[in-house]
Amino acid sequence: KLHNMVLELKGNIRVLCRIRPLVGKEHGGQGADSPVQVVSEEALRVASVDNKAEKDFEFDRVLAPSDGQSKVYDEVAALVTSVLDGYNVAIMAYGQTGSGKTFTMEGPEDDPGVNLRALGDLFRLAADRSGSMSYAFTASVLEIYNEQIYDLLMSGKQDGDKLDVKQGPDGMYVPGLKQEEVATMDEVSALIDRGKSNRSTFATNMNEHSSRSHLVLSVHITCTSKINGSQLRGKLHLIDLAGSERLSRTGAQGDRLKEAQAINKSLSALGDVIQALQQRNAHIPYRNSKLTRLLEDSLGGNSKCVMIVNVSPAIENVGETKCSLEFASRAR
Ligand code: ADP
Ligand code: MG
Repeated sequence: KLHNMVLELKGNIRVLCRIRPLVGKEHGGQGADSPVQVVSEEALRVASVDNKAEKDFEFDRVLAPSDGQSKVYDEVAALVTSVLDGYNVAIMAYGQTGSGKTFTMEGPEDDPGVNLRALGDLFRLAADRSGSMSYAFTASVLEIYNEQIYDLLMSGKQDGDKLDVKQGPDGMYVPGLKQEEVATMDEVSALIDRGKSNRSTFATNMNEHSSRSHLVLSVHITCTSKINGSQLRGKLHLIDLAGSERLSRTGAQGDRLKEAQAINKSLSALGDVIQALQQRNAHIPYRNSKLTRLLEDSLGGNSKCVMIVNVSPAIENVGETKCSLEFASRAR
């Protein structure tokens, strides 16, 4: 109850922070000398590095390096299942490249992340309620790269026919975007795999490309009452955002510069929209990017959103970690 009241007051946006464990040869991990320390379930501290003062950051929840995928999912489960009651929900992973966004959303095959856990939960709950309700699920996979939308369920180059976001009777949608029915986890996995393989055919370097584009898996659910035929529609956007790191000023030229500008534009537009919603401003600047336009009916009003800010615990990333935490603090 208290929690719901807090959500009401805060414009329905929750901000979580997940600190990933050390990987590879990084320095300063979970030990006492790490520059990133969990202070409580709702706070973390970034130590003084390079003469910059230490700083505390507060979030709705802080997830420690030792917290696994199920603990992360528990934090968003209630929002996910509210989609069956007709809510629009967006869950997005924010952070620099290498901070754990894809791990959080997708996860390795033997330890799946939010995406598959969410779908599994929704199918299970829909089956439980099938006595009185019938549910139809469709899904789409799109990518936003350089402020252009690409349908990842369509193979082949799509430069000729670019997709746009429009407002329709059922909310925001992308005309022409492929929506496919899904009813089982196998179908969902197959659809995600297809999206991923199409994504990699667009890109010459998949790792670089995936860090420079937003990946959006959307699930639309129509819920029909078996008693009186009334219908509810809800949708869930699961988003692996482009890397938030600033490009070094000297290195950026040509395509790299264009990519960096597009990412910068959409992530700052996202920050502006969230801030305007939290402050209950009269004007919400959704139209400043494709991403915020797509999410127009999934961030404000009767919808719910979670941003998971992913950060690295390593000393070599402390600058970007602070930037991510500052961005996320602005969203609270
Ligand atoms: P991003 O998508 O933000 O670029 P990744 O999800 O690819 O980052 O994570 C970078 C590396 O760290 C990967 O090797 C990933 O497996 C590992 N990693 C990230 N988060 C975790 C975690 N919570 N537990 C274990 N390994 C992680
Ligand atoms: Mg990634």
